[in-house]
Amino acid sequence: MIYQNTQAYAAQLDEKDELRKFRQQFLIPRHHGADAVYLCGNSLGLQPRAAKQYIQTQLNAWEDNAVEGWFMGNDPWLSYHKQLIPTLAGILGANAAEVTVMNSLTVNLHLLLVSFYKPTTKRYKILMEAGAFPSDQYAIESQVKFHGFKQEDAVIEVAPREGELTLRTEDILKQIEANADELALVMFSGINYYTGQFFDVDAITKAAHQAGAYAGFDLAHAAGNVPLQLHQWGADFASWCSYKYMNSGPGGISGAFVHEKHHTDATLNRFAGWWGYRLDKRFLMAPGFQPEVGAEGWNVSTAPILLLALHKASLDIFEQAGGLQMLRAKSEALTGYLEFLIHDINQRVGYEAYRIITPKNKNERGCQLSVVCTSHAKATFNYLADNGVIGDWREPDVIRLSPVPLYNTFTDVHLAAERLFEALTAIK
Ligand SMILES: *Cc1c(COP(=O)(O)O)cnc(C)c1O
Repeated sequence: MIYQNTQAYAAQLDEKDELRKFRQQFLIPRHHGADAVYLCGNSLGLQPRAAKQYIQTQLNAWEDNAVEGWFMGNDPWLSYHKQLIPTLAGILGANAAEVTVMNSLTVNLHLLLVSFYKPTTKRYKILMEAGAFPSDQYAIESQVKFHGFKQEDAVIEVAPREGELTLRTEDILKQIEANADELALVMFSGINYYTGQFFDVDAITKAAHQAGAYAGFDLAHAAGNVPLQLHQWGADFASWCSYKYMNSGPGGISGAFVHEKHHTDATLNRFAGWWGYRLDKRFLMAPGFQPEVGAEGWNVSTAPILLLALHKASLDIFEQAGGLQMLRAKSEALTGYLEFLIHDINQRVGYEAYRIITPKNKNERGCQLSVVCTSHAKATFNYLADNGVIGDWREPDVIRLSPVPLYNTFTDVHLAAERLFEALTAIK
């Protein structure tokens, strides 16, 4: 795509954008009476305009039916979650039975590790990316300790090469192979939160299996952002959150994927609760846990209907947009435009004012670009915020900017780049 750095050109791209009508379905934050430029969907997706209605409908059902709401009304709560599964399964590239909605992300990682981290004295190590999201690091650290191992010994972190900021797939695969005898699990994010690098989930999964280890993924920054094929790739398990690219509200409900091949494996441990009990017999309240077959069998507690309603409000928009295929094409164009404009700024000023650390290859990234400000980083971030551009800040010098295809425009991207350019002369 040959881009131009003019507002008119950006407006023209917006005009041609077949997905532009979806922006109206979201509440865009305001800045001095105008729409802010919100490029922070990687951290908290925007509120669907219909979210209040979805919540109100369930409040009404509670009002009208009280406890009977579990079994009666237009969408009885007992099966409410089922309405979300087809869209979610599409987003993840999974079969319906492989996907469930429950809890929050870090909680789900722990529950899944109960099943898929089964260390033995010989095979007990977990291989992960260096610089994983802190919650994932803490989860892994506490899990290996729980099993009586030392973190320094049991956790292998794959780091970028000297002078590089992102990982090479070949290096990840080599490390998996080199540790094959001792690996119990390979646990990676789909997209690294800091660099925006989209890992080769397929290749990592195959290498883990080759080594005799399970492969699990934290898809917090990948779900709803990039196309995934979890079933086909053979990933053993995954979890994600719904409040980033899936716009389902702060602390919104998470979900989990468990590959079909494990659904009837009775040797897997799990921490059980009644909501994972087979539905046809759940209310017999009998002793002896019998799981529902499929990912649902990993559920523990009563479904939080209000959180599910928020999740559905957003998933219904994904459904209207036809899933991720067109969204991904627009996403590549939006992020490509931001990349072009940042390079253009550097060219105009004659030095590298902004350095993009996210991979150039569009197959190795999603919406997000992580931008190092080579001087006055924090002041630059504040300048953006003061001028209506909402990104997010990561120590020591990185601004993450994520144009999201459901609600961002090419004009948003152009405005953000204008502010980045101005910041270079405005900040002394
Ligand atoms: C956002 C994010 C989390 C957050 O986990 P919660 O349990 O929802 O607080 C965890 N891991 C990764 C990789 C994330 O990006």
